[in-house]
Amino acid sequence: MRVAAYCRVSTAQDDQLHSLAHQQQYFAEYISRRPDWELAEVYADRGLSGTSVRRPAFQRMIAAAQAGKIDLILTKEVSRFARNTVDALAHTRALRKIGVGVVFIGDNIDTRQNDGEFRLTIMASVAQEESRKTSERVKWGQRRSMEQGVVFGCNQIYGFDLRGGQLTVKPDEAAVIRMVYHKFLHEGKGSWIIARELTEAGILPPRAKDKPWSSTMVLRLLRNEKYCGDLLQKKTCTPDFLDHKKVKNDGREEQIYLPDHHEAIVSRAVFDQAQRELQRRATKNGQYARHSARYWCSGKLICAACGSRLTPRRRQRTDRSTYQVWTCRTRVQRGSKGCAMHSVTEDTVCACMAHLLAELNIDAAKVVEDAAALTHRLTGAERAACRAVPADGTQPGSLIYGTLLERIVVSEDALTVYLCGVEGAFWMEISDWKRGVFSACTRL
Ligand SMILES: [Zn+2]
Repeated sequence: MRVAAYCRVSTAQDDQLHSLAHQQQYFAEYISRRPDWELAEVYADRGLSGTSVRRPAFQRMIAAAQAGKIDLILTKEVSRFARNTVDALAHTRALRKIGVGVVFIGDNIDTRQNDGEFRLTIMASVAQEESRKTSERVKWGQRRSMEQGVVFGCNQIYGFDLRGGQLTVKPDEAAVIRMVYHKFLHEGKGSWIIARELTEAGILPPRAKDKPWSSTMVLRLLRNEKYCGDLLQKKTCTPDFLDHKKVKNDGREEQIYLPDHHEAIVSRAVFDQAQRELQRRATKNGQYARHSARYWCSGKLICAACGSRLTPRRRQRTDRSTYQVWTCRTRVQRGSKGCAMHSVTEDTVCACMAHLLAELNIDAAKVVEDAAALTHRLTGAERAACRAVPADGTQPGSLIYGTLLERIVVSEDALTVYLCGVEGAFWMEISDWKRGVFSACTRL
């Protein structure tokens, strides 16, 4: 195996420990202990932290890996390998795709092992703290503008034109919005039915013009305060970790509410009535309340028949208790003529995940515990924050399963499960879809 090493070196005269010579010696010795390993090259960049932007040696190493000249990379710590754990994760994922593993000696992580990426992922979920600090100043300036009513972040708001931070009503889209409120309040229709009717009427949905209307899109129209002329700023925020995705601002940043900010599309009375009605229907059947919840496997279940994602639904048993199922989106939108794939119960998915954890010998509780300690050390995040993540993960379910699961393809008689950081896939044959019994598990 051709093994490369990556390190950061100090150019200070008196810093012997972090000199290039010392690092080279360290890795040469480390590699010589393994008879099947051969030292390819020690790549060294100046500056001790991973934060410096220009890292020519790192770039050369990645190029060498892509050219097939390296099989494995050794490095001391995650914090030296990349700017943050998120970057580290992005690099290790890209490297894993071309068959190159990374070993973080000090952190005891090997991305070739089943739980290597899993550990890194957990660290990334807490590493948001790091990046929050760095983007604080930018946000402060933005906040001042927001308080003055400048609209941020959403360059496409259905029903409005946004130019220079100002909203103006688009008459044709405004008519659709008023129709949606009418259908909801006066015809008693739900979001799924309204979505279907809009698609059937040939009305183009917001943004994705080639897709049908979804119930989520309809609910957004019913919930967005902009339609009654108000403006709520900071609905989402960007914790700035993993692909810089926006997340719902669930109180982590203060929101700004500006009433009568711009021209309304529906009256305040109609809007308030819609909010009360949403609330009423939510408490009636629990469906809307659950709608905004993210599930641990959201977006990860794929229909083998039509390629759509599966969407969460609640079903009622004869005793009126409810349970969670996942149903092909095409089937939900167009009925069984659109796609005939059966639903999968949440219990079935969980049973498969539990089986796979056991099969792979992953001691979930221990991994979570290790990762919490590691996260604290790496990110300097408060101990409580590190513990908060594992707390719900020690119960089998959401955190562990969600982190480990990459994708499940649902077919006629089986689930094909792909796990993060685990080669190949698992073919879980299901003998009873209703009760979630599987009869065989084969590694592909
Ligand atoms: Zn389907």
